Amino acid sequence: PLLQPLADYFFHEATDFEGHEGVFAQGAFVHRTCRGPAAGGVRNWSYDTVEAWFRDGLRLGKGMTHKNALAEIWWGGGKGVMARNTGCGLRHEDTAEERQTVYEEYGAFMSALNGCYVTAEDVGTSGKYTLRDMKALFSQTRFTTCIPTDLGGSGNPSVPTARGVIRGIEAAFDHLGKQLAGSTVAVQGVGHVGLPLIEFLLSKNVQQIIAADVDTPRLKTAATYIQQLPRGDRVKLQHVKRGDLSILFTECDVVCPCATGGILSIDTIPKIRAPIVCGAANNQLASLDTDAKLLKKHGICYVPDFLVNRMGIVQCADEAAGYVSPDPNIEKHLGNEWSNAIYNLARSVLCEADATGKTSQEIALKVAEERSYQLHPIWGHR
Ligand code: NAD
Repeated sequence: PLLQPLADYFFHEATDFEGHEGVFAQGAFVHRTCRGPAAGGVRNWSYDTVEAWFRDGLRLGKGMTHKNALAEIWWGGGKGVMARNTGCGLRHEDTAEERQTVYEEYGAFMSALNGCYVTAEDVGTSGKYTLRDMKALFSQTRFTTCIPTDLGGSGNPSVPTARGVIRGIEAAFDHLGKQLAGSTVAVQGVGHVGLPLIEFLLSKNVQQIIAADVDTPRLKTAATYIQQLPRGDRVKLQHVKRGDLSILFTECDVVCPCATGGILSIDTIPKIRAPIVCGAANNQLASLDTDAKLLKKHGICYVPDFLVNRMGIVQCADEAAGYVSPDPNIEKHLGNEWSNAIYNLARSVLCEADATGKTSQEIALKVAEERSYQLHPIWGHR
């Protein structure tokens, strides 16, 4: 009943499969559309309450407003969230047919919104299902990105995301007058972003990488892949239990969170022994203001996640505008020539944070907020 007034517009109740627990509902959380249509991936996750689902959708949508604006993409911010109340995370027991139905329904839902929200892949719409899910979604709508490459799209955005994170890490090392080559790095999560990140770190000649994951099959895949990389013997993989955050407390030069959000908190920050935190995970700070201040108080150089993990959405924006490979716009974001490129922006944010006594999060957020109100001449809405 809570959804009823909004039903058929931003929310939509999807098929509830016989014999499965819980409801399955689909949502589009449109946060701000001044710069253009709201854009961000669709998450497939389980929530215990409708409130938890709404809270997550609204928070993630707002995060996309800031990420897109900071990257100077002509898109607003939004996020799709498919919600389940099974209380058990993703349901791997879904059959291929059921997943196909759910993603086709989401595609039809996107078409019904007429483009005020443009979707993409996200957590849960990933792993071995990505191609199938995105194909099913694309069969019903053009308001999506991350279209599989065999259908003419740009595919999985995670490798460019990892390349962007490396530029953020380099900016932090340079800011502190340290060398990335020869350093020790801790990586949380060896998934779509974590694994290519390890590969790029090895190519930068880091001395040692300690990486942890909760998922044994993922670790096995990672081990096989890393084995054949030059200097692959410098990587040590660890299995950790769900909820175990000890990788963050490794004695090293930089910690790279590439798993879940909310991991930088009053409980974890005092135990971090690295001088730099820079990684791909969205919403790393449990509390945006107090935890950013706590990092600063502990002398930790934090490069805001929404600044360094933009390359996935940049690739999506390029795809929507007519993707070419290799795309010069992607190189622009990663290079040194443009003041808003990840490396240059990260350096200026870190310098301003030092000069003003503010946190890097505050500085980046202020720029993002200002830019998020710039009105696209054709598609923008106040
Ligand atoms: P993914 O699901 O492929 O990988 C995440 C990995 O983290 C998984 O292997 C998972 O088992 C592991 N993990 C979960 N909890 C853990 C813990 N406590 N300790 C260690 N490992 C743990 O996801 P991804 O696409 O690699 O994305 C990683 C993060 O980066 C997410 O927060 C995502 O929102 C963010 N991000 C991804 C992209 C992208 O292009 N894929 C873009 C921007 C932001």
